[in-house]
Amino acid sequence: MAERTPMIAGNWKMNLGRKEAQELIYAIKDGIKGLKDIQVLVAPPFTHLDTVLKAIGGADIYLAAQNMYWEMSGAYTGEVSGRMLQEAGCTHVILGHSERRNLFQETSDMVNQKVKAASFLGLIPIICVGETLEQRDNGQAFEVVQRQLEKSMDNFLADQRMPPSTILAYEPVWAIGTGRTASPDQAEEVHRFIREWIDSSFDTHTAEQIRILYGGSVKPDNISALMSKPDIDGALVGGASLKSEVFLKIIRFQEG
Ligand code: PEP
Repeated sequence: MAERTPMIAGNWKMNLGRKEAQELIYAIKDGIKGLKDIQVLVAPPFTHLDTVLKAIGGADIYLAAQNMYWEMSGAYTGEVSGRMLQEAGCTHVILGHSERRNLFQETSDMVNQKVKAASFLGLIPIICVGETLEQRDNGQAFEVVQRQLEKSMDNFLADQRMPPSTILAYEPVWAIGTGRTASPDQAEEVHRFIREWIDSSFDTHTAEQIRILYGGSVKPDNISALMSKPDIDGALVGGASLKSEVFLKIIRFQEG
């Protein structure tokens, strides 16, 4: 079976001033010294990318944006293209986060266009899916997640190929920023379902390589239990990624 390097990703959302962002990176850099076999990623707001890139310097911290537009350039006021993100030093981009889907009416078709553009450019997409509480209570969690996967990756399905570097994130909407985490068993059940979907839609080798992160109120006290599950390959962390001491405890979960 393929070895999947765990990833701990911090989604800063619309938080932190430039100076705070810089200080947070310095503290993370310090705290990950000597750490191996884990990838660390941060996704600051667009306006901080340059500052954060400089603060990262040569450290092993990947830089992601929280969103992008699918066109390369043009009259799209307020939007930022994938190429611009690459020029700003991003290697990854978060796409289809539930806050984009719910607050900004982003559909899976739009996410698919973004995934297509990002992959064309060689930007690694972190594609988010997840059901609402109402959908879970109605027994629709798997159906909703499958529909989001199919539509958000329609281009990969058409090509019959999913780049193995692609990262997926299962983020149940009811667990984001609510302090309510999915139990490790609940999360694993959906992660397993996603991996089986990749297996049946693409192939076993791809399914074994793709990393699936869990997101939703991840904290130092629940990360180890989540990471003990075979199909959970890391975490997408919101609130708890904004304080270095908390984020570092999550990153260093293997030390207990
Ligand atoms: C997120 O925004 O992706 C997230 C999981 O947020 P939080 O960790 O705050 O629930």
